[in-house]
Amino acid sequence: MVNNRINLLGLNMAGLEKFVDELGEKRFRAGQLLQWLHQYGVDDLDSMTNISKKLRTTIGERAVIQGPEIVSDHIASDGTRKWVLRMAGGSDIETVYIPDGKRGTLCISSQVGCQLNCTFCSTARQGFNRNLSAAEIIGQVWIAKRLLQPYTGKPPSTQSRAITNVVFMGMGEPLLNLDPVTDAIEIMLDDHGYGLSRRRVTVSTSGVVPMFATLRQRVPVSLAVSLHAPNDELRCQLVPLNKKYPIAMLLEACKQYVADEARQKITFEYAMLKGVNDQPAHARELAKVLRGVPSKINLIPFNPFPDAPYERSDDQTIDQFQQIMIKAGYITTIRRTRGDDIDAACGQLVGKVLPRQRRQRPGSASRSIAQPPGNKSNSAWDSPADAR
Ligand code: SAH
Repeated sequence: MVNNRINLLGLNMAGLEKFVDELGEKRFRAGQLLQWLHQYGVDDLDSMTNISKKLRTTIGERAVIQGPEIVSDHIASDGTRKWVLRMAGGSDIETVYIPDGKRGTLCISSQVGCQLNCTFCSTARQGFNRNLSAAEIIGQVWIAKRLLQPYTGKPPSTQSRAITNVVFMGMGEPLLNLDPVTDAIEIMLDDHGYGLSRRRVTVSTSGVVPMFATLRQRVPVSLAVSLHAPNDELRCQLVPLNKKYPIAMLLEACKQYVADEARQKITFEYAMLKGVNDQPAHARELAKVLRGVPSKINLIPFNPFPDAPYERSDDQTIDQFQQIMIKAGYITTIRRTRGDDIDAACGQLVGKVLPRQRRQRPGSASRSIAQPPGNKSNSAWDSPADAR
């Protein structure tokens, strides 16, 4: 809601149908709106030429099209592009675009900050402010697309999409904000929206087991699980959520998630922390524990941040770990670090998270920028299939 008017960006097809129903309009108007907003990426009602002036005025009385405010926009020498986006209430999040040949992956955030306290993740240091709304989640895709592929007045070709993949690997735990996350995913998958296939949208989770079935039932997109350790003792230290949902339970939920889905695999993310989880014995244990789970493994060289209690494993150690996993029959890739020169490398996501108590009510946020964040800000990102 913006000044009591609904933000059209956050409405999926069902939401838009309800909206047009309430105006006494035909249902197909919802598809038109979705198409203008997301396929073409317009930001004003007057561009919507197949909708009558009268109807546009009525819509304008009840709704707005409000995208995120851009605080900064940087492009790295390798083409990686990072935006710092200001949310209502004054906190900032980050969105990163990673072009790679024909693929263009957008890494988006689902919450301002995070509640999960993984010890190797800098977002945890910042605390948690709030969940993002569906409009704020899809708004990241909307703004990136507008900037990467501005609307020219002609229908965009599906062949030359700038954004081919979306990963929820920015700030926050998507499965702890599932309703807005699924609404946003529905817009990504809708042919009138971004038209992405469900395999090209990846939700990354630290393992909120009870939500797996709901996600699968609503939008069976690709799932990535931040595993990082082959046993409960170590995983409890790295990912405290493991105390609640230990590895056996997590892996059972993973199996269920891909059951009856030929060729569908879970991507397991594994941050390589020097001397902590990167030894050959860990690899062998991991190979054993993942037996029977359709898996792909993505090793992420740890990205350090100030006062981080870990160091990045040596390249040689990472290669050795990868070889053990490959020999054991697992597809195992090493995630390249991209966008180094603009601090957009994986896993050091910072943004600017205001403390909860200082949160302003939506709508009361000052739209003028107090100060651009001069702090180091990095994003966790990547398409799970990337290799170094
Ligand atoms: N909460 C979700 C998504 C956000 S993190 C999750 O836990 O999956 C996206 C990925 O980056 C996760 O696999 C996370 O474990 C990893 N990551 C976080 N901090 C990192 C760091 N400093 N170095 C490397 N990877 C990191």
